[in-house]
Amino acid sequence: LVTTATITHATPAGFAAIERSRDNEAGIALQYRGVVDVALGGGHRFFDAAQRKDGKDVYAWYRESGYATFRTRAELLSGAAGKAQILGVFDPSHLPYTVDQLNDPKVKEAVPTLAEMSRVALDSLDQGREGFLLQIEGARVDHAAHVNDAAGLLWDFLAFDDAVRVALEFQAKRPETLIVLCSDHGNSSPTLRGMGVEYNDSAASFELMLKARGSYTPLVRMLKDGAREAVANLLGVELTAEEAEPLQAAIARTRPTSINQQLNNVTGTLGQVLANHTGIAWVGESHTADYVVTTAVGPGAQEFSGLIRNTDVFGKLTRMMGVTHKNPAMDPEAAKKFRTQASARVHWA
Ligand SMILES: [Zn+2]
Repeated sequence: LVTTATITHATPAGFAAIERSRDNEAGIALQYRGVVDVALGGGHRFFDAAQRKDGKDVYAWYRESGYATFRTRAELLSGAAGKAQILGVFDPSHLPYTVDQLNDPKVKEAVPTLAEMSRVALDSLDQGREGFLLQIEGARVDHAAHVNDAAGLLWDFLAFDDAVRVALEFQAKRPETLIVLCSDHGNSSPTLRGMGVEYNDSAASFELMLKARGSYTPLVRMLKDGAREAVANLLGVELTAEEAEPLQAAIARTRPTSINQQLNNVTGTLGQVLANHTGIAWVGESHTADYVVTTAVGPGAQEFSGLIRNTDVFGKLTRMMGVTHKNPAMDPEAAKKFRTQASARVHWA
């Protein structure tokens, strides 16, 4: 399992843990030992004895059963070679956005990229004789979309693309490998609007993305000290006074700044204001029903062509691996009490 989210987050956990509540990440942290050979991502707080309710040193507990554990990029890149079982956790929570990583030498030094983690995982798993299933998640693309952060999203997509290259290089050596690329859902439907007279400004608008020096994470912290300055300094975009005003209002919560309820907040307002410059506009801050790309290369790739349901990917993969498994099923009435538990909080996934 490789992810830029906490390694105990929904997607990696979905591959290896059995747990009623996705929020029980401290519990999920205990479920990979002996089940998952390589686990790389964030979520230190769920492994750290000082931050766990049970006071358990989860790293030491993994080491007891033969895992090599790593906390920094340097440790991982110098120490993972030849190791069959690896646990690497590189942030208290999710790994930083790629655009923040690229613009902070300290973070760049401390945290491996998705491509680097993928390479470590593939090198390790390649030593096994029986083949493997590796899940690689570019998780923060979703988080950036939730807050309408175009630069955060795009740079994390590029980091994912680097990881795809690593997988393709591996497949060139091991042509019996099937690579499946998919997304669990669309999110906030970012779209490129035609910009300027005869749309002639569209390319130049999009190129503003190259000026971004950070995600909304540092930006939102900087906004209170002056929205125009913060946006100019971090994103290289010069807001007009008319654009800065609703942004200040959203920060101070003095009045609604959008009649689109999902965009009536600081990040939604930022997304709308920046769209005037970048041409990247959003419909909301939630998962969407957009069609998303699923594609595959390698033996069995034809299973993933055309329009398929995302939930069918599971059955296709287990069938190909010769795993006989059926998820438990129940009627809507029986599911009610579980639904109540599950909808108690709104989740990012
Ligand atoms: Zn999400």
